[in-house]
Amino acid sequence: MNRDDVIVVTGGGGFIGGHLVADLARQGYRRVRSVDSKPVADWYQRFPEAENLELDLREKDACYRAVRGARFVFNFAADMGGMGFIETHKADCMLSVMIDATMLLAARDCGAERFFYASSACVYAADRQDRADVIPLKESDVYPAMPEDGYGWQKLFSERMCRHFSEDYGLATRVARYHNVYGPHGSYDGGREKAPAAICRKVIDALMRGEREIEIWGDGEQTRTFTYIDDCVAGTRALMASEVAEPLNIGSDELVTVNRLVDIVEEIAGVRLRRRYDLDAPTGVRGRSSDNTLIKQQLGWAPSIPLVEGMQKTYRWIHDQRRAGRDVGR
Ligand code: NAD
Repeated sequence: MNRDDVIVVTGGGGFIGGHLVADLARQGYRRVRSVDSKPVADWYQRFPEAENLELDLREKDACYRAVRGARFVFNFAADMGGMGFIETHKADCMLSVMIDATMLLAARDCGAERFFYASSACVYAADRQDRADVIPLKESDVYPAMPEDGYGWQKLFSERMCRHFSEDYGLATRVARYHNVYGPHGSYDGGREKAPAAICRKVIDALMRGEREIEIWGDGEQTRTFTYIDDCVAGTRALMASEVAEPLNIGSDELVTVNRLVDIVEEIAGVRLRRRYDLDAPTGVRGRSSDNTLIKQQLGWAPSIPLVEGMQKTYRWIHDQRRAGRDVGR
């Protein structure tokens, strides 16, 4: 990418899109166009040096306006959230297909050179993730398909659209399957937050209110890996710059139980709290980890930021938001 290429980031008012715009701005890319349907005042991060547009990308005209003159398109816009959201908003999640289809058409018609798509580990079949002692998911495991209902099917469908836009129309596409990305400037309250931010918030709120107990969704023995945002942005940039046309996992392989994640947050906060387990809460699959063999082969790189390090930064940021009584990041 050249410093004066027009680079479009959709979902730029959200978590990952906001961090990518920040990274591009830091590195002197002068013509970054950041697009989101939220009012600009509500974006998690705002960069005056970027062109910031409020557009609903389910609309055809909006997509063509967003992509006009662009050489590279990063498509992050989606109606999504953590398990609490995607298990109760399946239709809303699936409607993000309108964004993906229309953005692909606009990118093709406006002559964009390369299109990045943010897919998810939720494309992998549930029956490969029914044990806490996981076999890490490799890219080829995705078929035969039985993804997460709603959100996962939508992501898999859009992955395939990318492939066929590439084969049939010559639009180069790059697809990342993100595994649980976390960090500052993301959602931590209001229903769309994911486990790392939710646990930080619960511990911080318990401390601020003088309570000794927090609620955990499930029995806490479900396993996950969590990818720090800086690794996510680095992997995204590397994949977009590469010649890898097949989907790649971008995910940590540092496997922990949710109970261990809570231990980490408690160690950061310097507190021990009682845990009340809500066995009826949405928890998603029993165990999930990223197999990073392919990304190491293809990019010579894989996420490596330790969970403790990323959680310290995340905790500190959410703590500061909470103390300041801000609702940024909701
Ligand atoms: P996010 O919710 O913070 O950002 C998505 C943004 O898209 C939001 O700001 C939202 O306002 C915007 N948006 C929604 N509908 C829109 C529309 N019609 N037009 C324009 N903008 C619209 O989510 P995120 O965590 O930054 O995720 C970014 C992408 O990465 C999403 O596609 C998501 O599915 C994918 N992903 C994220 C994770 C993760 O752990 N965060 C994991 C797997 C995949």
